[in-house]
Amino acid sequence: MSDKFDVIVIGGGPAGYHAAIRAAQLGLKTAVVDAWAGKDGKAALGGTCLNVGCIPSKALLDSSKQFYNLAHNLPAHGISVENAKVDLKTFIGRKEKIVKQFTGGVAQLFKANKITSYFGTGKLLKGNEVEISGNDGQKQTISATNVILASGSVPIELPFAKFDGKHIIDNAGALELDAVPKRLGVIGAGVIGLELGSVWRRLGAEVTVLEALPEFLGAADPDIAKVAFKEFGKLGLDIKLGAKLTKAEVSKNEVHITYNDKDGDHDLVVDKLLVAVGRRAYTDGLLSEDCGVKLDERGRIVVDEHCHTGVDGVWAVGDAVRGPMLAHKGFEEGMAVAEWIGGKAGHVNYDTIPWVIYTEPEIAWAGKTEKQLKEEGVPYKVGSFPFAAVGRAVAMNEAIGQVKMIAHAETDRILGVHMVGPGVSELIAECVVAMEFKGSAEDMARIVHAHPTLSEAVHEAALSVDKRAIHKGN
Ligand code: NAD
Repeated sequence: MSDKFDVIVIGGGPAGYHAAIRAAQLGLKTAVVDAWAGKDGKAALGGTCLNVGCIPSKALLDSSKQFYNLAHNLPAHGISVENAKVDLKTFIGRKEKIVKQFTGGVAQLFKANKITSYFGTGKLLKGNEVEISGNDGQKQTISATNVILASGSVPIELPFAKFDGKHIIDNAGALELDAVPKRLGVIGAGVIGLELGSVWRRLGAEVTVLEALPEFLGAADPDIAKVAFKEFGKLGLDIKLGAKLTKAEVSKNEVHITYNDKDGDHDLVVDKLLVAVGRRAYTDGLLSEDCGVKLDERGRIVVDEHCHTGVDGVWAVGDAVRGPMLAHKGFEEGMAVAEWIGGKAGHVNYDTIPWVIYTEPEIAWAGKTEKQLKEEGVPYKVGSFPFAAVGRAVAMNEAIGQVKMIAHAETDRILGVHMVGPGVSELIAECVVAMEFKGSAEDMARIVHAHPTLSEAVHEAALSVDKRAIHKGN
C-alpha cells in the first residue's frame, strides 16, 4: 500500500518548503518530494533560491562589494590598502558554506516539523497520486488529499547560444567561475545580468551587457532607472541597449558573439558569456497526461486567484505559476495555500510585492509606477528626496540616488514607492507595510523616523508629496 498524506508538496524550493512547513504547523501530515542534489550528491533542499539563486548571489555580491570598496570607497575615508587581492577559492568557498548551512537548515526544519522528505523527482498522476523516481533509481507511488505543485523555474536557453556550462553559462555557472574572466559578456540587463555582472566587474572583469530592449530596466520607474544606469556606467558595466544577440560560437577558449543594434551587426569576443534572458516555469515530466492540470501558452501551470489548478485538491505556487518570479512571492503563495487547505484564511496581496535588485546602488520598488497610473487614469502626486541630503548617507560616503513616493492626488493613499540608493532593499519594507495598511503620504510624514538614518529619505519623500520636505527646496 502506498504512503498516504494530507499534503504532498512537489518541489522543496522557497514556495514549496514554506507550504510544507505551514501545512505541518497546522497539523497536516505532510511530505515533500525534491530532486535537487548538492555537489556531494546528497539532497539539497531550498531549490534555486538557496542553491544557485538569492542566497549564493548575495554572498558573492557582498564579498565583491567589500573588495571593490577597498579601492573605491575607503580612500575617501582616509583609509588605504595596498595590493589587495582576492583569493577566489575562499571567495567561492564562503558562498558554498553559506549554501550548505541554509539547505541543511531546511532539512532540519523539516525534521523538526515531522515532514517526510523524499529525495527524487515527483510526477503528479490522476487521483492525487505522486510517482517518485528516486535519486537512488527506485520508484514508488504515494498519495494525498492535497498536492501542491512547486516545481519552480529554469533559465531560458537561447537556441543560438546554448549553455555548455564552460563558456556559455547560466546564473549557476556564473556563481562558480574558477578565475575572474578577463572579458565577460552578459546577455540581458535584467536582475541576474546586473547582479552577477556587478560581481565579476568588481573583481576586475571587463563586462559588456547586451540588452535587447531600447529602454533600461523598463519595469522600474524611469527616474530610478536613469540613476542606476549612470552608476552602473561608473562601475564600468558597458551596457548596450537595443542590442540583440544573434550568434554565439565557442572557438579556441573564447566566445565569438554577433549582435545587432540600430547601427547594424557588431562582433564581440569574450571569455565567458552569461545568458540571463529570463526564466521559464519548470514542468518537464511533472504532469501525467491524464492528471487534468493545464499549462498556459507560456508553459506555466494554470491556477485561479487562490492558486488552485481546477483539479480537486491540486494547487500550484511560486515560479511555476503566473506572477513575478520572486522567492518572497512564492513564500506567501505557499503559506496561503497551506492555510486554505487547513481551513484558514490565506492571503497574498499581489499589489504590494516588493522588487529588489541587489546592485550598488540598490534598486527597490513596490506598487505602481507613474506610467501605470497614467494608463489607468488614476490622478496622483509625487514627492521625492535625494540621499545627497540625508546626513547618514553622506557620512557613509554613499549619498547616491533618491526615494520617490507616489500618492493618490485626492485621497493621499500611497500608490507606489521607488528607490535607488544605499540600503533601499531594507527601506522598501516600511513602505510595503504602509501600503498594506492603506496608509497615506501624510501618515508616513507624521511617523517619527530616527535621525540620522537612511530611512529619513522615506520620511522626507513623504513630506515632499505635500511640498513640505525640510531639507530640500519644494
Ligand atoms: P529578467 O526578466 O529580469 O531580465 C532578462 C532581460 O533579458 C530582459 O531585460 C530582456 O529584455 C533581456 N533579453 C531577452 N532576450 C534577449 C536577447 N536575445 N538579447 C538581449 N537581451 C535579451 O530575467 P533574469 O535576469 O534572467 O532573471 C530571471 C528571473 O529571476 C526574473 O523573473 C527575476 O525577477 C528573478 N530574479 C530575481 C532576483 C531578485 O529579486 N533580486 C534576482 C535574480 C533573479
